[in-house]
Amino acid sequence: MSTKQFSKGLVWFRRDLRAFDHAALYHALKTCDQVHCVFVFDTDILTSLPKLDRRVEFIWHSVVALDADLRNLSPNQQGGLITHHGAAVDTVASLATKLGAQAVFCNHDDEPQALARDAQVRGRLANVGCSFFSYKDHVIFERQELLTQAGRPFSVFTPYKNAWLKKVDDFFLKSYPVEAYAEALAATPKAQIPSLESMGFEVTNLLALGIKPGAVGGAALLADFLPRMHQYNEARNFPAIKGPSYLGVHLRFGTVSIRALARLGFDAHRAGDAGASTWLSELIWRDFYAQILANFPHTAERSFKPAYDKIQWEKGKVANERFKTWCAGQTGYPLVDAAIAQINQSGYMHNRLRMVVASFLTKDLGLDWRLGERYFAEHLIDFDLSANNGGWQWASSSGCDAQPYFRIFNPTSQSEKFDPEAKFIRRYLPQLAKLSNKVIHAPWLASPVELQAADVVLGKNYPHPVVQHEIARTETLARYAVVKAA
Ligand code: FAD
Repeated sequence: MSTKQFSKGLVWFRRDLRAFDHAALYHALKTCDQVHCVFVFDTDILTSLPKLDRRVEFIWHSVVALDADLRNLSPNQQGGLITHHGAAVDTVASLATKLGAQAVFCNHDDEPQALARDAQVRGRLANVGCSFFSYKDHVIFERQELLTQAGRPFSVFTPYKNAWLKKVDDFFLKSYPVEAYAEALAATPKAQIPSLESMGFEVTNLLALGIKPGAVGGAALLADFLPRMHQYNEARNFPAIKGPSYLGVHLRFGTVSIRALARLGFDAHRAGDAGASTWLSELIWRDFYAQILANFPHTAERSFKPAYDKIQWEKGKVANERFKTWCAGQTGYPLVDAAIAQINQSGYMHNRLRMVVASFLTKDLGLDWRLGERYFAEHLIDFDLSANNGGWQWASSSGCDAQPYFRIFNPTSQSEKFDPEAKFIRRYLPQLAKLSNKVIHAPWLASPVELQAADVVLGKNYPHPVVQHEIARTETLARYAVVKAA
């Protein structure tokens, strides 16, 4: 006779699309005789997305791969994933009832809308006598696991990072050995995964870009990055160089395990590898912003520091025109425009450039950071509410531990410093390719002869600058005067 707590359980996959080192799957397999697995293409989320959305396609391929991985893991390869296209709040409870599951298992998702959805699902499950369990899986430390000495959530990164490094040990980094309990995976008819088209989406350039979804794609990127990790601290700031890991999208959808990545970074950090230390710091920033959103959910809509909500952003026709130039990569500042071309063409933008364009939107164009935040949310393949919100509030100075409001990036000197040979600019703005390295960062300063020799006609094949940085800088300092005392 079985000694397990439940005869049947259901694992609900969401932002954790892998069949290894998975907290909810592990707990379900350990406590249930038979475990079913489901992924819901949630219409409550999908209906608000454009037809061409690389993330939906990434998810779709990752779900196909997850189904195969679960099947391979299960006894006699009879298991697999159940998939549904519908509202998750309705589907999960009705499926649990249909399967006769006594418990549903999933991993935490602390975004405000996800918490509201989960509360609804928990309620519906309770109505049919089914338990709901959820687990930390997406970060190393979550919610209020790390607190200041005064018992409050951290809002400054460096002390948070010190506390993180002090607390972390093998216990927090060890994998969940899903394989050891895989015999509990229930037989499941082969999944009829709804096609992208049937859900109203079209195929994007995702695969053509060389992005490999699923756990296989995550593992390939990690293998590519590990030999480069030691130079991350030096290479990561230059967008023309292959410096970062590009693992963001896999972290977002859980096709890699954060524990495995943090373990690799932490071990190398302890061995004195400076590149690994910097990379580990970035993973800690990820945890930091996740706990900021969990502990200060108002930041999803408003500034972390309330005084910053008093700032009068540009509004009306001029503001709308300025925003259009930013979205189209037509600001006349080459590094900004090349960065926007990168996100528009690929759904990725280098971290240095995210800071540059965010600063440009808020402090050169005088536009509300939420406009840029929303644009990134629609276009970034690795869009993550907590990191995106944290990044935008950092750049606009409205966030916790943000850059001071009077620190205003100069888009031209950022360009000269971080793309000195203009390789990145030339890749995305071929119309400027023939300009010399000296003037390409600020074409409006080039002489008529230089422009003519490079076939550049300002106002025709490349725009005049939409604002003048020095004037914009002065206006911004005046705009931010309302927060001086904050
Ligand atoms: P790597 O440099 O290899 O870093 C490894 C991982 O660490 C990243 O994949 C990411 O998960 C995490 N990470 C790195 N930097 C940060 C950071 N500053 N904050 C939080 N986590 C970090 N990151 C997102 O994952 N999603 C977003 O929507 C997002 N929006 C941003 C918006 C702005 C305005 C800014 C300034 C930054 C944003 N970032 C965001 C953080 C960072 O730019 C990306 O994580 C990084 O560029 C992704 O590339 P990568 O995977 O090669 O990262």
